[in-house]
Amino acid sequence: ERMMTSATRPEDREAEWSLRPRTLREYIGQDKLKENLTVFIQAALGRREPLDHVLLYGPPGLGKTTLAQIIATELGVQLRVTSGPAIERPGDLAAILTNLQPMDVLFIDEIHRLNRAVEEVLYPAMEDYCLDIVIGKGPAARSIRIDLPRFTLVGATTRAGMLTSPLRDRFGVIHRLEYYRPDELEFIILRAASILGVTVETDGAREIALRSRGTPRIANRLLKRVRDYAQVLSDGVVTAEVAQEALRRLEVDPRGLDTTDQRLLEALIRKFAGGPVGVETLAASVSESVDTIEDVVEPYLMQLGFLNRTPRGRMATVAACEHMGLPVPAGLMA
Ligand code: ADP
Repeated sequence: ERMMTSATRPEDREAEWSLRPRTLREYIGQDKLKENLTVFIQAALGRREPLDHVLLYGPPGLGKTTLAQIIATELGVQLRVTSGPAIERPGDLAAILTNLQPMDVLFIDEIHRLNRAVEEVLYPAMEDYCLDIVIGKGPAARSIRIDLPRFTLVGATTRAGMLTSPLRDRFGVIHRLEYYRPDELEFIILRAASILGVTVETDGAREIALRSRGTPRIANRLLKRVRDYAQVLSDGVVTAEVAQEALRRLEVDPRGLDTTDQRLLEALIRKFAGGPVGVETLAASVSESVDTIEDVVEPYLMQLGFLNRTPRGRMATVAACEHMGLPVPAGLMA
């Protein structure tokens, strides 16, 4: 597994719980979403109604699960966590739904991976808080309706476009999480450092923030690795120098690119003359899955302005060539 992956690594698990902000006020960044949610939550509480179903999309590690927990906390209800692939049969979902308490929040991660039969159970549950259950087989079969407690579904996915439209249409709030700015990540790192009991200088936090791919999960992970270097190489204090040296040894470059990103850009620029090239070819050249390339690697490279998706394929940019120290292929010159 890559160090710079935004997916959860085993070492993240234990710390993720303690580092998670608990309230909207503690949640850094995503200001627009926070503002909206604050209003929607207050309104729902005032009406004693469940909050509208919320769909959060965007790359992993940006705080979707954290937000689901915060929404439940702010509503004063329980959170139930599951994921698309974990719900195999309609009965599994029925069991989860019938066990909810009124107003509870149900979080379904990777909701685009629900199978068709399960998804169909979800429609009436979301819309009318009920289950339609078919009893018996053949001509004797009949359908009965079971009322469910009213609840809020928070769904998370890497791409909203992967949801079927009937499912997407049943969410009242649909919001994309953005990559975090360096100043926001710096704040997240300083907060995590104080929880973990690590002394981090502002410049040190800045250095880590710039290389965290806009992703809090990666920022927290890098902080823990840099702390180890600080402890062994110097007096435990994370200064800018210590952070730079640690990140150099971890093969994370100044813009947060790791060897996979670098190999991808190098292939695109050198082997394919800057593109355009198909995503399958690109994925094969760095031995990654197309999904990982599309959901995790490319969004960050596009955010940096290093890569463009065009109808004919992926293209490198002049900025990418400059960053990689490679000559600009003729096809990229304007
Ligand atoms: P996702 O569900 O989008 O993959 P998570 O909610 O699991 O991401 O977030 C990963 C980690 O990043 C959390 O454990 C938390 O420590 C940190 N994190 C995420 N968003 C924020 C934020 N806005 N402020 C502070 N920490 C955050």
